[in-house]
Amino acid sequence: MLRKRKLAAKKITAFTFAASLGIALIFHGSIAAAESGHKAGVASQPVKVQKKNNLPKGFVYLDEVIPTAQYEIRYYSENNFTGSRVDGYKAPLAIFSQAGAKALKAVSDDLAGKGFILRIYDAYRPQKAVDDFVAWSQDADDIKMKQQYYPKLDKRNLFKLGFIAKKSGHTRGGTVDLTLAYAKTGTLVDMGSPYDFFGEISYYNTSLISRTQHANRKILKDVMVKHGFKPYSKEWWHFTLIKEPFPSQYFNFDVE
Ligand SMILES: [Zn+2]
Repeated sequence: MLRKRKLAAKKITAFTFAASLGIALIFHGSIAAAESGHKAGVASQPVKVQKKNNLPKGFVYLDEVIPTAQYEIRYYSENNFTGSRVDGYKAPLAIFSQAGAKALKAVSDDLAGKGFILRIYDAYRPQKAVDDFVAWSQDADDIKMKQQYYPKLDKRNLFKLGFIAKKSGHTRGGTVDLTLAYAKTGTLVDMGSPYDFFGEISYYNTSLISRTQHANRKILKDVMVKHGFKPYSKEWWHFTLIKEPFPSQYFNFDVE
């Protein structure tokens, strides 16, 4: 009897988990569809996710600090340059250092007055995820996502070219990948190239985008700089907190 009840409980848990996963996958899928062909993304629905609530001291869940932002954690989904869920991403959550989250909240508050909200793609990233990127880059046969993410580049050169790093600011909890969306509609602001597109068009100062797209990138960069973040010239979406709380510590706890 006891055993049966346990089994039933297990079943319910599994079902709930699958249901929530289903929602999460639909969410990621719809965004992927909307963004292919360089179109702006669609409004996103918040996804209920079970949190483990076991973060190291000095780290927080970003959605608790900035509930108005959209969270589309690509490395938890299959819609990223590797084509699979990345090691260490056990939930579609954004975790960040407390200091970073405080600065980002100021960014978000500032943008609210201008009609924008943030869409967060990645924040803290475990070292095992970075190691997963390295392993992926060495498997020359796997070019599943080449067309969408790095059509003109050899994946083995993505480190040398500065699009992926073997030691990342994300792993220190001080770097965040993000863009802007319109508060009214939830659709993405046109930045001229999609998140994690590896190529010259993603350089902040590229000549391959329109004046409006440049102006949009500038809105994001200016507000991030104003609140203590440093931009990265090769990726318009990537920003690092200047006064990092853990400037030389690389963490490896899971995103969960
Ligand atoms: Zn980044």
